[in-house]
Amino acid sequence: MPYDYDPQNIFAKILRGEIPSQPVLETEHSIAFPDISPQAPTHVLVLPRGPYVCYDHFIAEASEAEILDFTRAVAEVCRMTGLCPGDGKDGYRVLFNSGLHSGQEVPHLHAHVVGGRPLGPLLA
Ligand code: 5GP
Repeated sequence: MPYDYDPQNIFAKILRGEIPSQPVLETEHSIAFPDISPQAPTHVLVLPRGPYVCYDHFIAEASEAEILDFTRAVAEVCRMTGLCPGDGKDGYRVLFNSGLHSGQEVPHLHAHVVGGRPLGPLLA
């Protein structure tokens, strides 16, 4: 898998505690904290702790325990936002940016969980 992980990226520094964050969820393999520049009333980032650049990198190289933990962490954050449509609420979007064309700014895998307003077409 041709990915070089940059240990100086901002999320790596947050994970090492070099930059403060205010986690809303911490598990063995994952962490979630609010986006510093929220694009919606709810905008939480969910990261695996391991050194993965993007989603395909993560699935290729992470352990099953990491993948399960991260998958559950994303779902838990969705539930914590209070926006789950199964609870009769207005729903949310989970989004991964990967690489240049997606506009990925930080080369450490993260899921954006956004909601709290109508989000419009995905590619608008
Ligand atoms: P990307 O474009 O890589 O998918 O998204 C990166 C996200 O990280 C952006 O939404 C940006 O606002 C957020 N971000 C960048 N630096 C920081 C930071 O230091 N703290 C937090 N909480 N979010 C950050």
